[in-house]
Amino acid sequence: MNIRIGNGYDIHQLSAGRRLILGGVEIPHELGLLGHSDADVLTHAIMDAMLGALSLGDIGHYFPPTDPQWAGADSLMLLSKVSQLIQEQGWQIGNIDSVVVAERPKLKPHIAAMRDRISRVLQVQPDQIGIKATTNEKLGPVGREEGIAAYAVVLLVGK
Ligand code: MG
Repeated sequence: MNIRIGNGYDIHQLSAGRRLILGGVEIPHELGLLGHSDADVLTHAIMDAMLGALSLGDIGHYFPPTDPQWAGADSLMLLSKVSQLIQEQGWQIGNIDSVVVAERPKLKPHIAAMRDRISRVLQVQPDQIGIKATTNEKLGPVGREEGIAAYAVVLLVGK
């Protein structure tokens, strides 16, 4: 079987006056993530893992933060572009596993919605998308609620 694996990591700062979007889902919180796009750290980590699996570089190459066309961009729209790219190269998603590291808010109630959103964009089943949430046990910048980080691993299968 023709398979490839990729991993991705991202972190964004938490800031007042921003919406908190994770996995395409808006989560009620007094702080949101700061970034050029909607700063959806989970979707960014997944895109980097998909690109990395095919040695296609990273999302900064395709959607540079200096380009005004990506200002405030919906990261799920960017994810659909990356999905199209890997499909054009003859690959499909086997499965994705990911972790969001956030001290607050509690993410567990939103995970099913995130899996649903991401799986629809990638045209796969929700059970192909693993999303876990953990805290950083109050350690470091994530533990001090200065930011939220995400890690993702993706397995691609040749069509
Ligand atoms: Mg990012």
